[in-house]
Amino acid sequence: MKLASRIAQVPASMTLAIAAKAKAMQADGLDVCSFSAGEPDFDTPDAIKAAAKQALDAGKTRYGPAAGEPALRAAIARKLQHDNRLDYQPENVIVTNGGKQSLYDLIQVMIEPGDEVIIPAPYWLSYPEMVKLAGGTPVIIPTEASAGYRITPAQLRAAITPRTQLFVLNSPSNPTGMVYPPAEIRALAAVVVESDIWVVSDEIYEKILYDGAEHLSIGAVSPDIFSRTITSSGFAKAYSMTGWRVGYAAAPVELVQAMAKLQGHSTSNVCTFAQFGAIAALEGSQEPVEIMRQAFAQRRQIILDGIAAIPGLSCPRPNGAFYVFIDIRSTGMASLDFCAALLDEFQVAAVPGAAFGAEGCIRLSYATDTTSLAKGLERLAKFVASR
Ligand code: GLU
Repeated sequence: MKLASRIAQVPASMTLAIAAKAKAMQADGLDVCSFSAGEPDFDTPDAIKAAAKQALDAGKTRYGPAAGEPALRAAIARKLQHDNRLDYQPENVIVTNGGKQSLYDLIQVMIEPGDEVIIPAPYWLSYPEMVKLAGGTPVIIPTEASAGYRITPAQLRAAITPRTQLFVLNSPSNPTGMVYPPAEIRALAAVVVESDIWVVSDEIYEKILYDGAEHLSIGAVSPDIFSRTITSSGFAKAYSMTGWRVGYAAAPVELVQAMAKLQGHSTSNVCTFAQFGAIAALEGSQEPVEIMRQAFAQRRQIILDGIAAIPGLSCPRPNGAFYVFIDIRSTGMASLDFCAALLDEFQVAAVPGAAFGAEGCIRLSYATDTTSLAKGLERLAKFVASR
């Protein structure tokens, strides 16, 4: 069979592949500790589920507008105004199949062959592949743990060429958990404005912050940056709604209309009754979000203590999301080999740094229960000692 080169050149998503393998091993009766996909282990809060059930009973089972239910677009616009100081109106919002589709849509409607997209590494592994699927060129800026895995304005400026169209900013970051302080966001915004490029701000982890870290949406820095910003987010991480597939982007109307056109020819609307659950998520009590954040904070401490106790492993202290990005170079193993052997020999699932553009590291998600965390850390220690 001949596959189109556009798909043949792209690898499968390793986060999804490793998570699926771990689940299949569990289904086979193996005792697997899965630190792979970033998926909260909590159930979706009851009020959100109740709203979706009610919508089902009320017959919200039909096609809806490709850009999303008007009531959800309005609720998202209010959330962005209130929480993020971003002056979006409902027509600036598009509801998508998870945050992932908002990024895919955007890149499809904005990027074409010859265009460059700047992506700091370590990056979430789908960004460069989405750029390639659009025929564009990812331009990677490597960062170091010693620099907190954050780029400087000078690094951003140096990566910009006349072909640069878009800069991808992700804070809090997947896979490192680092958060750009507001002053650094402002400095990056200045470079974007002076260089006349666009920025997409992936804010899916904005609610998961620790140690007093502050999230500043880059679009809120000034009217100049606001007009060249796309804000992307979703419900999966903060509300534990990974399987619901509800995300969104907010952007200038012309872009939103182009993205809606793409959805009109591809996926159509996001599951109608799921969108009513999302409205309840935004409009109901935010207490469940804080309860889950506090649980993640405890788990972060458990995993950081566990890693610190394993000779040869180290990681910076993340102040957002639910990942630790661990330096494994002392083992002399490539990250792919490390993760394959760790899963086969000790039934611990982790994602190789190579998938995130950072060889010599692995990512562990600690969005998992404390018993599995303790057990997985014990096995990781034995694995490293055995090398
Ligand atoms: N974004 C999550 C992760 O990085 C879920 C899997 C995926 O979509 O990549 O683990």
